[in-house]
Amino acid sequence: MSFDVQREKIKEICKGLLESGQVETVIGYTEGGIEGMRIPYIFGKPEEAAALEWDVRCAPNLCKYLLEMKNKKVGIVAKPCDVRGIVHYLVESQLIRENIYIIGMDCAGMEDVDGDKLPGCVECNIKRPPIFDVRVENREVSDEVGPGKDAAEKLAGDLDKFKKEMDKCILCFSCRQSCYGCYCKVCFMDRGVPNWQPAAPDAGAKMVYHLGRAMHLSGRCIECGACERVCASGVNVRYLIQEVTGFVEKIYDYRTGLDVDTSPVMASYKFDDREVGFVGGDADE
Ligand code: SF4
Ligand code: SF4
Ligand code: SF4
Repeated sequence: MSFDVQREKIKEICKGLLESGQVETVIGYTEGGIEGMRIPYIFGKPEEAAALEWDVRCAPNLCKYLLEMKNKKVGIVAKPCDVRGIVHYLVESQLIRENIYIIGMDCAGMEDVDGDKLPGCVECNIKRPPIFDVRVENREVSDEVGPGKDAAEKLAGDLDKFKKEMDKCILCFSCRQSCYGCYCKVCFMDRGVPNWQPAAPDAGAKMVYHLGRAMHLSGRCIECGACERVCASGVNVRYLIQEVTGFVEKIYDYRTGLDVDTSPVMASYKFDDREVGFVGGDADE
């Protein structure tokens, strides 16, 4: 089933959901963005489903909108990475499963205006939604779940690479705003006490922000690539988060957003948890 066939199927499903009253609101995509990028589309009338779009330009992750509608019955058109975000919100007790109707999309990958695959989509190997209420199939998409990204690049220890990326950063926080996982009401960077933000975005403040964010995303990154995609300065610090993600998978056998019945790795403790990385802890084999 191609994007075109999937699009017609979504319209039919969303119209039916609103007509039957099963949901009050639907979140999907419609046209209107720059250079053909699809934009979020939130609507509540059955006839409005006709304006839904679904193609290689539906990159924005929509799951964060659900946090604004926790007590409503909402249908959401969700790519596998969006569904992983929903699963992780559920394990973090941020959403009520019964209130969400997941229209899970098989996803062949999103592209930029030149037809190149977007960051995240290049490495993505979870192309089918891990959970759904209805799945909109694309037979061209593999149903295998591949392993997480091997942290083989070992770039995290490369200070020169890190400094080079920091030089480009203007501390605009778009990467934080676009990330499903950054939903604290007040980010640590915006707190007055202690004040992490100097008047000028100096190297120290940038390092605190990016290292702090990487730690806050440990065991929580859904590998969507949004943080890299939205950066107008071309900064790539996603490799840091990828290394943390690879580490968590290797040491704790945990991959984010695949199972609603597994507690978040950083909020569960076992007597035999390995303590790799601590002084006197286990060796990382
Ligand atoms: S990261 Fe995977 S699921 Fe998400 S848009 Fe890209 S290909 Fe689709
Ligand atoms: S990495 Fe890019 S998006 Fe993130 S704060 Fe720096 S300039 Fe902004
Ligand atoms: S850190 Fe980046 S890749 Fe990971 S979930 Fe957030 S936006 Fe997506």
